[in-house]
Amino acid sequence: MLTKTTNYMKYSGHGAAFFAVVMGALLSPLTANNAHGAGANGPVNLYSYRQSFLMAPLLEEFTRETGIKVNAVYAKKGILQRLKAEGANSPADVVLAADITRIDAIAGEGLLQPVTSKLLEENIGPSYRHPDNLWFGLTYRARVIFTHKERIRPGEIKTYEDLANPLFKGRICMRSGKHEYNISLLASVINALGSEKAEKWVSGVKENLARRPQGNDRAQVRAIFEGECDIAIGNSYYLGKMLTNEAKPDEKKWASAVNIIFPNQPDNGNGENSTLGRGAHVNISAAGITKSAKHAVEAKLLLEFLASDKAQQIYAAQNFEYPLKKDVSLHPIVASWGSFKPDEQRLIDIAALHDSAARMMDRVGFNH
Ligand code: FE
Repeated sequence: MLTKTTNYMKYSGHGAAFFAVVMGALLSPLTANNAHGAGANGPVNLYSYRQSFLMAPLLEEFTRETGIKVNAVYAKKGILQRLKAEGANSPADVVLAADITRIDAIAGEGLLQPVTSKLLEENIGPSYRHPDNLWFGLTYRARVIFTHKERIRPGEIKTYEDLANPLFKGRICMRSGKHEYNISLLASVINALGSEKAEKWVSGVKENLARRPQGNDRAQVRAIFEGECDIAIGNSYYLGKMLTNEAKPDEKKWASAVNIIFPNQPDNGNGENSTLGRGAHVNISAAGITKSAKHAVEAKLLLEFLASDKAQQIYAAQNFEYPLKKDVSLHPIVASWGSFKPDEQRLIDIAALHDSAARMMDRVGFNH
C-alpha cells in the first residue's frame, strides 16, 4: 500500500511495490534536477528504514533551514537489495536505518562512502560510528528489562545474566529469537562473555520462558500486566511510547505495571571492571551516504543537520530515545528513568557477530 504525503512517499511492506515507489518518486525529481544542471541545491534522496512519522518533521525542518528538498522513500525491508540492484545508477544519496545490523550490512556490501566531517566526528563518539566513517549513529536506546512492580522486588534482577537463573523459571516473556533486537543482544553477550558462556546463557533464558516467543516488545509488557509473566526484555523507548499512547490507552495501563531496569550497571554491585558491570546493551539508528550519491554535498549537510543539537533533540524526544550528541536534553519521561551506563563495546564488533548469534538462537531452539 502506498500513501503519498507532502514531498514524501510512505511505504509499508516490501517487494515489487517498493521498486515502483523508487521509480515513481525519485526518478522524476532527479530528471528534473539534472535538466537544470545537477548538484548545487539537491534534492537529497533518502532511503529510510525509519518510519515517516519520525523522519518527516526533521526533514521538513532541514528543508526550511537549507532550502534543500528531501525525497524520502520509507521501507521496512529490502533497501539493501534495492541499492545492490541499482548499483551506480541508484538515485539514493542517504540511507538511514533503525539498527546497526542493517546499516552495517549496507556498508559491508561497499555501498557507502566515507564522510569527512569535523562536526560529525565531534558530535558522534567513535563507538557509535564506522571506523572509516561509512556511517554515523544518530540516536540510541537500551535493550532493558521490564519487571512487574510488585512480583519482582527491587534489586532482584540486575543483569542480563540474572535472566538465566533457574529462580526465574516460567517467569520471562520475550519476542522471537529471530528478531534483530534479540540477535543484537545475544551478539553483545557473545562479544562480552565468549561463545560458550553466551550459549549457556541463552539456553538458560530459554528454559525460563513463560511461553513460546511471540509478539512485539509491547506485547511482552502486556503479558506482564496480564500476569502471564513477571519479566520481559524490550527496547527502552517502548515504555515512553506506551505511557503516552492516547490512541490506545490500554497501553498506558500495561506500561504502568512495570519498572524499567537498565542491566549490568557498575553502581549496583556489579563492579566497574567486571563483565557484569559492562553496561546496558544499546543499539542505534544510523545514517550514511551512498557511494553512488549524486548529491553528496547536500547529503553531508543532511547528516550534519541530523547530528546537530536541534535535530538531535527533536529526533530523540520524538521516539523516546537518547541523542548520541552529548548535552542534548532528553524527553522528560526518558529523563525520569535516570542516567545509565551504556555497554561501550563497539557496535561494529557486535554487528560482526550477527550471524553467529542468529545460528546460536537456532541451535538452542529459542523459538520452540
Ligand atoms: Fe522498535
